[in-house]
This record gives sequence, structure tokens and C-alpha cells, in this order.
Amino acid sequence: MEFSLTDPAFVGKLFWFTGLAIWLAIRYRPNRTSRKNKISVTARSPVENVSMIVSFSGLGIIPLIWIFSGELSSFNHAANWVVIIIGIILFAWSLYLFRITHKALGAMWSVSLDLREGHKLVTSGIYEKVRHPMYSAFWLWAVAQPFLLSNWIAGFSGIVGFGTLFFLRVGREEAMMEGEFGDQYKDYCQRTKRIIPEIY
Ligand code: SAH
Repeated sequence: MEFSLTDPAFVGKLFWFTGLAIWLAIRYRPNRTSRKNKISVTARSPVENVSMIVSFSGLGIIPLIWIFSGELSSFNHAANWVVIIIGIILFAWSLYLFRITHKALGAMWSVSLDLREGHKLVTSGIYEKVRHPMYSAFWLWAVAQPFLLSNWIAGFSGIVGFGTLFFLRVGREEAMMEGEFGDQYKDYCQRTKRIIPEIY
């Protein structure tokens, strides 16, 4: 890797990596506190576990391998500042959404499909606009990635990886929530969309 702040490809990698570090910092506390809350219901399955690994690879491992080992460099492409700046804006937006969704979910958050003891349905704040704002944040990250990383594989692996997790998970998550919260969740579904307000 060449260190040059006048090279858009380098700046893209730098922002992607910084974004990953900020995301880990945002997750650190929710991860510790929610663990203390016992799990009462889980819808984790082998499919869910495999798709989490696929997502983690696409949004993290594959880009890291490309950035730090230079593998996949035959798929590099040219970078330009406009594209990099769009990527920075999308990734910053994603991190902002991560922060507010973690704040809203608090100890109810789980990395997978779990309900905790005394779980309450959150429907206010950002959860009033969409049912899955944290997944909206992951989509923004996945979409930011090909703008920031000037490599066809490392760039688009996030969309493939997170897309796999999202489409295999979201229906099961909603079924789990409906099983726990019944009509309260059905009503909530009636008035909200999944990840894009008013649209999807
Ligand atoms: N799908 C949500 C949450 C992702 S974290 C989002 O994208 O923002 C996954 C966990 O959050 C699930 O295991 C579930 O227990 C919990 N969860 C999902 N929606 C919730 C809600 N509206 N209120 C409380 N907990 C919720």
C-alpha cells in the first residue's frame, strides 16, 4: 500500500478503514451491556450463522485482505475524487445511523436473532420511520464500499455479503418479533416500511 494523501485510491482506503474502527467503537459498549441481559427466545439457525459469516467477510475480511496484502490487485480500477467523496458521505451517514440505532435499542440489541428477558418493542425515534434502521445503516455501508475501495471485488463484496444476510434474515426476524409481540408488531408493520421510509 502506498501512503499518499494526494492519491484518491489511498484516501478511499483510509476512510473505509477509519469507518470500520469507528463502527467497532460504536458497537463496543452495546456488545458488553446486552450480553448481561439473558436471552429468552432465539431464532438463530445454521443458515443465520453462515450468512453472518458471509456478511462479515464481504463488509470486513475481503476488503482488509485487499488493503493489507495486495491480493486481488488485478481487479483494481482507477479512483477519482468525486467518487471517493460520495463514499465518505455515505459511510459517515451510515455511522451516524449506527450510533442512533444502538442508542434506541440499548440492551435490546443482539448481533443475531435473539430476544432478551424483559424485551420491549422499540417503535419510537428512528424506529418510527423504518422497522430496520440498523440494516439501513449496513446497506449504506455496503453501498459506500464500492465508492471508497477502488477494486471490483473488495468494493462489491459488501453488497453481496450483507445482501445475503439481509434477505435471509429479515423475514425470520419479523416472524420472531410477531411471535413475541403479536398485534403490537403487526400494527407497527402496518405503519412502517423496512429500510427506506415510505418506499421499501
Ligand atoms: N432489525 C433491527 C435490529 C437489528 S439487531 C434494525 O435493523 O434496526 C437484531 C435484534 O434486534 C433482534 O434480535 C431483535 O431482538 C431486536 N429488535 C429488532 N427490532 C426491534 C424493535 N423494534 N424493538 C426491539 N428490539 C428489536
